[in-house]
Amino acid sequence: RWPEPRPRPARSSLLVLAGPTAVGKGTVAARIKELHPEIHLSVSATTRPPRPGEVDGEHYYFVDDAEFDRLIEDSELLEHATVHNRFRYGTPRGPIEQALEDGRTVLLEIDLQGARQVRAAEPRANLVFLLPPSWDELVHRLVGRGTEDDEERARRLRTAKTELAAQPEFDHHVVNDTVDSAAEQVAALAR
Ligand code: 5GP
Repeated sequence: RWPEPRPRPARSSLLVLAGPTAVGKGTVAARIKELHPEIHLSVSATTRPPRPGEVDGEHYYFVDDAEFDRLIEDSELLEHATVHNRFRYGTPRGPIEQALEDGRTVLLEIDLQGARQVRAAEPRANLVFLLPPSWDELVHRLVGRGTEDDEERARRLRTAKTELAAQPEFDHHVVNDTVDSAAEQVAALAR
């Protein structure tokens, strides 16, 4: 006899926040963490080197390619993707399963490819698409961030255009007008 699947507590919920590059997903996710500490914000693994101020284990788990391969091989990632044709990012499975078992809402801030994988693996996931107020505003935010070189910016703009077209695949759309308002709208979608 197979063991019965463990029922998930009714309060727990898997929220996936995605959207075009530079729309402000990271900022909104960080604000949700501040406003709603009861929500578990997943920390991703990445092969990207840390930016100034980024802390290992807090913003990301910074790993090399060999370690990322090992995580995939040992099925430790719920989803993983190469983003902007460059670095690899993935969601560690263990902490999420633990938080869901504890009855907490879990928030993933990931790219579109990752969101599609989570949807396939977990049909009950709640997919939220964060939209810029306008295309011009998105370009402005991308240029304003100043953390990438010209080639990288052009690459990200191309990605953003393709990503915007994926909007209809999502359960909910939230416009990132102000960080606080977007954060509250996303947090309110936990079910
Ligand atoms: P950044 O390098 O600017 O921190 O993130 C680049 C992109 O990677 C963002 O679009 C972000 O949402 C995405 N990302 C971060 N963590 C993950 C993850 O675990 N899985 C996937 N698929 N994408 C992620």
